[in-house]
Formats: sequence, C-alpha cells, structure tokens
Amino acid sequence: MKEIYQQLGISPEVYEFGQQVEEELKPRFWEFDRTAEYNQMKVLLAMRKNRVSAACFGSSSGYGYDDLGRETLEKVYADTFHTEACVVRPQITCGTHALAVALFGNLRPGDELLSPAGKPYDTLEEVIGIRPSDGSLAEYGIRYRQVDLLPDGTFDYEKIRGAVNERTRLVTIQRSKGYQTRPSFSVKQIGELIAFVKSLKPDVICMVDNCYGEFVDRVEPSDVGADMTVGSLIKNPGGGLAPVGGYIAGTRECVERASHRMTCPGLGMEVGPTLGVNQSFFQGFFLAPMVTKGALKSAVFAANIYERLGFPVVPDSTEPRQDIIQAVTLGTPEGLLAFCKGIQAAAPVDSYVDPEPWDMPGYDSPVIMAAGAFVQGSSIELSADGPMKPPYNVYFQGGLTWEHGKYGILMSLQKLLDKKLVTL
Ligand SMILES: *Cc1c(COP(=O)(O)O)cnc(C)c1O
Repeated sequence: MKEIYQQLGISPEVYEFGQQVEEELKPRFWEFDRTAEYNQMKVLLAMRKNRVSAACFGSSSGYGYDDLGRETLEKVYADTFHTEACVVRPQITCGTHALAVALFGNLRPGDELLSPAGKPYDTLEEVIGIRPSDGSLAEYGIRYRQVDLLPDGTFDYEKIRGAVNERTRLVTIQRSKGYQTRPSFSVKQIGELIAFVKSLKPDVICMVDNCYGEFVDRVEPSDVGADMTVGSLIKNPGGGLAPVGGYIAGTRECVERASHRMTCPGLGMEVGPTLGVNQSFFQGFFLAPMVTKGALKSAVFAANIYERLGFPVVPDSTEPRQDIIQAVTLGTPEGLLAFCKGIQAAAPVDSYVDPEPWDMPGYDSPVIMAAGAFVQGSSIELSADGPMKPPYNVYFQGGLTWEHGKYGILMSLQKLLDKKLVTL
C-alpha cells in the first residue's frame, strides 16, 4: 500500500500519519455506514414500490410528453422524501435555479419572504434582491425580511415571533452553513423552527434549502414539516452521475406552483424532455447514500488530520455532521495555496494543472478553487476553494469515493509538508 501511495506522491511519513488518524475514526465511520445502509434501503423501497424498469431509462425530446422515466423518477424522489410530489429535471440547472423556481412560483406581489436563520447563500442575494439585480423578487414587489441568528448560532425565537406578520407568505431555511461560519442545522432543529413558525401562522409555506444535506441523516427536512425541500443534483442526490439538475420535493400545491415557473403557467410539470439523462438520474440517486457517506468520511478525516496539526476546523473533529462541508483555517496564503494544489493534484481529471487565485466577479478578494471533476462545477466530487484573504479558510467537500477523498487530503498535507508549513 505504501508503495502505491509513494508512486502517487505520498511520502511514508504522511501515509503513516493518515493511517493513525483513520484507525481512530473507526467508530465514527461505522455510524456513517449505518446511516448509509438505512438510506440505501429507503431509496430501494421507493424504487421497488414504483416498479423502476429498463423502460424508465428511455429518452424523450421536444415537449417530453409521456416520459415514463421522468414520471417514475419523480415518484421515487417523492417517496424517498415522503412528500406528495416532486419535480426532478435537467432543465433546472443548479441549486440556485431550483431555489429561485420554488420562490418565484410560490410568492406573489405584496408577499413577504422571511429568512429566520440569517443571511441566505450568496447566490440567493440576487434572486431575492438583497443585492439589487435585474428580475429579482424585489422587482416584483416581494419584500424580504431577515432575522439573524443569536451569537451561539441558534434561532432568535423572540425576534422571529416579531417578524412574522400578515404579509409573511414564505419562510426559507438553509440547512447547510454553506460558506459561513455558523453551524449547520440538524433536521431536528429545522423541525422545531418550522413548528414554531406554523404555530404563529399555520398557512405560511416553509421551504428548506437542502443543498449538501441529503442523506447525511436518516430524516430529511420534508419529514419534519417542510412544505418544500430543494436541492441540486450536482451535489449529494445526483450521486456523482447526474450531469445536471435540481429537485423540488413537497406538497402537491407547492410543487405545482413551482412547476408553473419552471416551465410556464398552463404547462407546469406536464412538459420537459429528459434528453437521455434518466438512467444517470436513477443510478445516481441509487448510489447517492453511498457517495454521501464517502464524502462524510473524507470531511471527518480532514477535520481530524488538520485539528491534530493545530489548525482550527469547522465542524471540529468530534461534532455530529449535518452536511458534507469541512472548513479548515490555514492561516497563511501559502497554506491555502498548498492545500488547494494538493486537492487538484489528487483529482482524476485535470490532475496536471495548477490552480491559481483569480478575481471572480462578486467577490472582494481573489478566490482559489481546486476541482478536477467529471461534471463541471460538481461539488459532490472532491473540491476545495477559499478566498485569498485572512484567515485563509479553505472549504473542502465531496469525494465520490472515500478512498479518493482520503488520497486528496493526504496530498494536501504532503504539499503543506513540502513547503515546510507543517511538521508531523
Ligand atoms: C451550493 C448551494 C446552493 C446553490 O447551489 P448551486 O448549485 O451552486 O447553484 C445554495 N444553497 C446552499 C446551502 C448550497 O450549498
């Protein structure tokens, strides 16, 4: 084993260090295995019930009427999430698009949107109009209100009580911290928040941004009262095989309203060609619990490696996981660069290129990104990125297999060691 790792650029000392850390993680990994086993059964149950067959792997074009695969897949998703309905479409480009479709479909002029869990994901700022943007919800007369989290990262129930009013139509809750420093929420916490909001106003629609959260737990936000649960297929539920896509699972009413925005009023979910993606959507969903498990193991491995070497990590080495993102504070630009170069060098695709920081639109400092993915931008595949500014945080996620995730982290450590930024 040491020899093959050596051929891949990992020194015996880095390999040994990794082995020690991995050995101690066995009880954690066993828990991830059990969750994945449960979720694999949940998906299989839905696939058996809906009689998935080879006929579902056919393709449709044009309007896409009578697409058996699309209709069956949407039932499989709905049954897995325990919802009345779901749309799962290649026409939904990504998570932001899915969330925008759900919001635009369910809000009307004069309504108010409330985020009781602080600032939403960056890309939603332009959808909502927090940052002025052409075609935002704000331009359609939909107001936005936000209640920030308490300093300890929990919900400010008193302020939320004051924020819900006669205009409040939809409440959006983001499960994963994304690229913030707050903790990610457990499904249980989200359930408590939804129950509280509904006790104030029973007819308010509760939507959960489930990006990066699918299959991390045995329950999903849809099991604890969410009217809409929304996510991206180039994250967890696509299992690494979906080449594009997003989903909205929820009540029939909410999903139908969203579908009128996804296509247009009158057509809704009746149209939508699948253009050959059906098999990869089914197969990816089938694999998703296992792929998510691998990403979780990789995240916990990274937390334990870097915490042991003295770097601050969020979540820490022992905390329960609510998503697959791992943040490591590297403290220096050289450290951040070395980490990302390691992840890139370990990739199955584009391993020979060197990531460089660049001035990305919308960011106030250069950003470095490492990803060598089969699907462009897929962050269920092993990837890392961070802004080139203090405290030089890197956000690390994914890995289609635990073995690849492990190699990526060892490679990042090797690069830090080669630059003499750490000592083992
Ligand atoms: C990734 C992500 C999104 C946006 O998804 P894209 O596919 O990048 O558009 C939204 N919310 C959260 C929490 C995410 O992690």
